[in-house]
Parts: sequence; structure tokens; C-alpha cells
Amino acid sequence: MFSSAEIGIDLGTANLLIYTKNKGIVYNEPAVVAIDTATQNVLAVGEEAKQMIGKTPQNIVPVRPMKDGVIADYEITSQMLKAMLKKVSKKLGHSLRKPSVVVCVPTGATSVERRAIHNAIKEYGAKYVHLIEEPIAAAIGAGLPVDEPISNMVVDIGGGTSEVAIISFGGIVSSQSTRVGGDKMDLAIIQHVRKKYNVLVGERTAEQVKIQIGYALIDHPEESMEVRGRDMVSGLPKTISLTSGEIQKALQESLEQILEAIQTTLESCPPELSGDIVDQGITLTGGGALLKGMQEWLSNEIDVPVHIAPEPLECVAIGTGKSLKMITKLQKATK
Ligand code: ADP
Ligand code: MG
Repeated sequence: MFSSAEIGIDLGTANLLIYTKNKGIVYNEPAVVAIDTATQNVLAVGEEAKQMIGKTPQNIVPVRPMKDGVIADYEITSQMLKAMLKKVSKKLGHSLRKPSVVVCVPTGATSVERRAIHNAIKEYGAKYVHLIEEPIAAAIGAGLPVDEPISNMVVDIGGGTSEVAIISFGGIVSSQSTRVGGDKMDLAIIQHVRKKYNVLVGERTAEQVKIQIGYALIDHPEESMEVRGRDMVSGLPKTISLTSGEIQKALQESLEQILEAIQTTLESCPPELSGDIVDQGITLTGGGALLKGMQEWLSNEIDVPVHIAPEPLECVAIGTGKSLKMITKLQKATK
């Protein structure tokens, strides 16, 4: 069944990654497409399309079709997937013809959304398409023993959503998906800067601030960063200096919401499995795991050991690709 190319796709809310068995990660770009509103044609995908955010004329709009963890537009998602598969195929010299594909979907995805993803990949020419739950892919990618009778807890903090799940025997025992992730943090920074300085900064600037001087912990070495935005009173460009302390405060609410999802999941954990979680700890994946001080902050809050997956941004894609082998086994376990 798996004689042709075998690929895994991580269709994230912020980034789309493609993994092949032989070459590892062959594609890793923002899940963004630039659309010409007059013709509905896709003008650019990935990094090129992300560069256009906030900079394009009115007839070209960059769209993140997976932004909130649900498919906002089937047609665009399907066009994005096809364009990206085409790009990878070209790069690899057409070795992706009739691939067997495993794609991970957020736990919150509806059956209609799952079918749409399935169809888009099938239409591209895939021989076989299998959908896997995102937390399971994350756990496999992090090297956790998912098919053993040991339970694990995975927290994946992505762009549009954060997913918290307890996994045992290859299946999800309990999970929570919340629409809070890196995007909300960026938005909180934009709102903070607008309120305090009367300056409007763009999404990309806010993301850079978060990555450069954002901390989860109150206690951290103070850093600062200069950013440019538009003064809302004069309408002119203005440069301001932001400190890590004020950014930490701006991020607080999003962090608390993620913490709440973790606590709720822990509380709903069957008692037989709680011991495992306390022993094994929690594994963090997704871009949000890279926020400075995240591991320390979280372990202070929940009294359970917290680990960060080896490659938080690539973990799900790696796990999706690797799951091909395990799928039959997993299907048996979840039935
Ligand atoms: P998704 O799976 O939803 O596509 P990712 O796991 O790729 O999301 O994570 C993307 C999010 O992680 C973005 O919001 C991005 O800003 C954030 N991110 C990436 N690197 C860092 C970092 N070093 N510190 C904080 N946030 C980061
Ligand atoms: Mg993800």
C-alpha cells in the first residue's frame, strides 16, 4: 500500500510543513496564500504570501485559511494545499506522484472539514489519504511511547489554537482545544501598544516583538526593543521602545487561558492515568513552546514536570510522517 512516495502533512494554523520518509522535512512555510480578489486566483503561497501581509494593494489579500483552527474557506485551503504540494514536487523532481499521505487535523475539526481536507489531497492525485489527530502526531514526533500502556500529556501551542491532550494506547483519552495561541499573543501586543502609546503596529511587528522580547515569566532579564508604527494622533510614522516587562504583562491573559485548558484536562484525567502524567510530565510542542521562560513558568504553575519537544515547530510534521508505519496499529488500538 505504501510503495509510492509517503508524505506527512502538518496543516497548521500558522505553518504548513511537509515531511517525506526519505528526505525528512521538505517544506516549511507559513500557511498563507495571496488571492487576487478580482479573479480569485492564488498569486503566491507560503513565505512569499506572508511577506505581503499588511503591504498589498486592495485587490490582493493574503489569507490564512486555517487561522482559527477551522477551515474558513474550503476552496482556498484546497488551492493552498495543491499549490504547496506542487512546489514540493517540483523541488523533489516529481517524486511526489500519487503519494500516500497522512495529514494531521486539529481535534476540533468537524467531519465536514475533515472531508474537505481529505478531498483536496485526493484531488491532487494522492493514492491514499489518512487523517490523524494532531496531538497524536505531536506525541509521535516528540518520541513519546504512544502505543504503550503509559499515558502522556501533550500541549501543542500553535498560532490559532492550543491543543491539550492525554494520550494512552495510541488514542486520545481526554482533550481540550482552545482558540488561544501565538496569534492572540500578537494581538495582545498590538492592543497594548495602541492603548499605551497611541501607536498602531502591524501583526508581523507584534510577532517579532513576542519572539524577541516576550517572556512567560515575570522574573526575567529585562530587555527592550525599538519598533515602528503609525502614530494614531498625527498619522505619522513613529518609533517607540518597548520593554520585556510590559510585553510579559500583555501576554499574561493568553498564557492564563492556555494554563486553564491544561488544568481542565488534568482534572478530567482518569485517576488510573494521573500517576503516569505526574511521572512522565507534560510535553510542550508548537511554536508557543519557544516563548522564553515558558517551560519554567508552566512547571511553577502546575507542579508537574514540563518538557519541551526536541523540535517544537517540526514535531507534528515529523510525527505525521512517522505515523504511516504505525497507523494500522493505532487504528486497532482506537477501535
Ligand atoms: P501551527 O501549528 O498552528 O501552524 P506553529 O506550531 O507553527 O503553529 O506555531 C506558530 C506560532 O508560534 C506563531 O504564533 C509564532 O509567532 C509562534 N512562535 C514561533 N517561534 C516563537 C518563539 N521563538 N517564541 C514565541 N513564539 C513563537
Ligand atoms: Mg501545529
